[in-house]
Amino acid sequence: MSATLIDGKAFAAGLRTRIATEVAAMKAQGITPGLAVVLVGEDPASQVYVRSKGKQTLEVGMNSYEHKLPAETPEADLLALIERLNADPAVNGILVQLPLPAHMDEEAVINAILPEKDVDGFTVLNVGRLATGQKAMVPCTPLGCLMMLREHLGSLSGKNAVVIGRSNIVGKPMAQLLLRDSATVTIAHSRTQDLPGLCRTADILVAAVGRANFVKGDWVKPGATVIDVGINRTDDGLVGDVDFAEAEQVAGAITPVPGGVGPMTIACLLANTLTATARANGLPDPE
Ligand code: NDP
Repeated sequence: MSATLIDGKAFAAGLRTRIATEVAAMKAQGITPGLAVVLVGEDPASQVYVRSKGKQTLEVGMNSYEHKLPAETPEADLLALIERLNADPAVNGILVQLPLPAHMDEEAVINAILPEKDVDGFTVLNVGRLATGQKAMVPCTPLGCLMMLREHLGSLSGKNAVVIGRSNIVGKPMAQLLLRDSATVTIAHSRTQDLPGLCRTADILVAAVGRANFVKGDWVKPGATVIDVGINRTDDGLVGDVDFAEAEQVAGAITPVPGGVGPMTIACLLANTLTATARANGLPDPE
């Protein structure tokens, strides 16, 4: 048996087209969504991400504001920039690219972003809102995973979901979203006992570990839906956290790396910016 491929690249392209249509409708009402991306320092991977975020923002018709600051920028200057962006009505979304240089307090910086403009969904207020079932900005990577799961499975209600990884940016919000959709959720991490056995109970298996080919084929329940969040650079190029060659023999459906979760993340950033713009202008949330 060979699993159905969940094509994140195609899904993301479709989502961007829908967003572009909504942006055009907003522009007709005199509203142009604006996304500000702040990059501190010269981290090469971050530069690539920021460049493609800016490009895709413009492609859907939104305004893109890029702020590049030197690595040695004092934290106070970054906070002052965030204050200005918070107050700027042309800016609907603010994203500070992580990681920040070591001399900065990441929590303090992130929480300086106005929750309504926090399109990454990392501020404590948005995390709390998500956890308590209130209207939140939801972190982009897990949101993209959820969209693909819903598209593929329809209802997630009653499904056993195992999320490997408990980071604030992927694992924990992923678990919250699955719970919100009435899945039965287990969060696994480095202290989990019998991880392979636990994974074999999962109708939905999400791997967000950061270890190349970590999840083996015999960890996968036959027919399960496998979402591979991992991005690992190896001598063989980019690979996920799931041993794709093995897992696709067993799974019902699986996301590839690259071309799975990655493209959905930026598309969801644009979706969040659109949502933030709609809310700022008293419009209903986009579909
Ligand atoms: P973190 O390093 O913050 O978290 C990794 C998690 O994996 C931790 O909770 C850790 O457990 C757990 N873990 C590590 N080793 C094991 C093990 N042996 N058994 C079980 N659990 C283990 O990573 P992130 O959540 O930030 O990212 C995860 C992966 O997703 C990375 O490859 C990253 O590059 C990728 N990523 C991809 C994105 C995309 O757009 N596609 C966006 C963001 C991330 P513990 O807490 O106990 O240490």
